[in-house]
Amino acid sequence: MSTATPRPAAVPNVIVVGAGLSGMTAAYTLAARGLEVIVVEAKDRVGGRTHSDPDYEGGPLDLGGMLIGVTHDRSRRLGETLGLTWAHARPEGRMTYRVNGDVILAPDSSYPTTIDGSDGFDVKLAEAYGKFDVLAARVGADGPWDTAFDRELDMMTVATWLELNVPDPVVRRIVDTDLNIIVGAATSEISMLFWAQYVAKCENMHALQVTANDALWIGGAQQISQRIAEQPGITLVTESPVTSVQYTDDSVTVHTKKSAYTAAHAIIAVPPASANAIAYIPELPLQRRQLQARAPMGRESKVQMRYPSPFWRESHQSGEVFDLDLGYLALDVTRPGDLSATIVAFIGGKDYDAWFALGDTGRRQAVIESLVATLGPAASEPLSYHETDWPSIPYTLGAPVTVMPPGLLSSIGTALNAPIGPLRFAGTEAAPMWTGYMEGAVRAGEAAAQSILDSLATSATTAAGSR
Ligand SMILES: Cc1cc2nc3c(=O)[nH]c(=O)nc-3n(C[C@H](O)[C@H](O)[C@H](O)COP(=O)(O)OP(=O)(O)OC[C@H]3O[C@@H](n4cnc5c(N)ncnc54)[C@H](O)[C@@H]3O)c2cc1C
Repeated sequence: MSTATPRPAAVPNVIVVGAGLSGMTAAYTLAARGLEVIVVEAKDRVGGRTHSDPDYEGGPLDLGGMLIGVTHDRSRRLGETLGLTWAHARPEGRMTYRVNGDVILAPDSSYPTTIDGSDGFDVKLAEAYGKFDVLAARVGADGPWDTAFDRELDMMTVATWLELNVPDPVVRRIVDTDLNIIVGAATSEISMLFWAQYVAKCENMHALQVTANDALWIGGAQQISQRIAEQPGITLVTESPVTSVQYTDDSVTVHTKKSAYTAAHAIIAVPPASANAIAYIPELPLQRRQLQARAPMGRESKVQMRYPSPFWRESHQSGEVFDLDLGYLALDVTRPGDLSATIVAFIGGKDYDAWFALGDTGRRQAVIESLVATLGPAASEPLSYHETDWPSIPYTLGAPVTVMPPGLLSSIGTALNAPIGPLRFAGTEAAPMWTGYMEGAVRAGEAAAQSILDSLATSATTAAGSR
């Protein structure tokens, strides 16, 4: 790996902007085919939204992306190829809910039946989530972009859709909180078309709620990008935010404050809002500009508590807590070999806003009090408490994924990943499937790399034919 200024002799074939998992996967795919790749990264590290602390007391801690899904084949294969191993997450046991101060233990692998003294919640919740699945199947992962149906869905927020389609206010509140956690935005901020397509890209609601959280990388998810950085053919330049990208039909120059790099192709592997902070000469087409200007990152914090043991398992609790009062989802993410047990809690969207306003001490107190109520008194004294506030992290600006307000998705069409001259767009947001996840980052990186390989093959064939 080289983190210094690139060797002058190494004229790159491709420049990758952004050393997150997507950009690194693209670089890996291209370098494996013999191309010279320069990866230019703003931060002082690779991995972007994956960031692991290997030396955290008690065992490695993942501060960002962490869980691998059952069908996350490409990212799993990539990690395994690089020598990593994984272990199953989600220990057996009952999930715990807290609603209006009541603590409810759900039956194994099911929603709770009785909430707030009234029955039938398992059926009502399954019905509400089932409606998302129906819409997701109709919208599909790839569009279409121009039907009246899609435009109508894009004219309303998820909050409005819930008001119209989910009569029970408690069910609405559960679904609402769930979405705040999944995408890090309030349902009043996001388009129903965006959400339906998000579900389609992640298979269905069951996949989003259960199978996406199947396993954990031993040692942490950031290692994938770190190991790619050691591969031949890849030159890494860190602490170099890209300020402008100047392009013609067949060449691109990427500028940082310190240097400029020129190649035949570039892959922009940063989220749309981060891509909007870069100047493009000439200007990008209108649809791509709109996407970058109008689609923000969600907002989410990841809070992790370490305990001497996973004491909740003794009472057949899985450690999974869904607290509607504070608005978070917690999971037991203890890895084999860890010296202590870990509970992680995700707080996003409007619940993040309210919780963040509590201040340092108030936030910690609120989370610990909730865990005491739901998992038991042993939760009161964690060995450690760690918050990662992603909205305050430069060049990422939020978590876990980009969201779209009404009116955007139906008007930007394919701008998420359409090539522009020598530019390709990667990043989990550009993924054909599993957008918002590490799997999406890998798939989008592979797709952008493949598009460049295809274009090089076409040029080679044309050149051979004209001889
Ligand atoms: C708290 C949290 C929890 C998550 N949990 C999970 C999970 O359990 N499972 C899962 O699969 N996914 C999870 N995700 C999502 C997953 O981490 C991301 O989908 C994935 O890592 C995105 O990778 P990426 O390469 O597309 O983007 P990023 O990781 O955002 O990479 C983009 C890179 O571009 C850099 N950059 C930005 N601007 C510039 C610039 N001007 N010049 C140069 N470089 C620039 C950034 O610094 C960054 O390194 C989570 C994310 C977060 C934040």
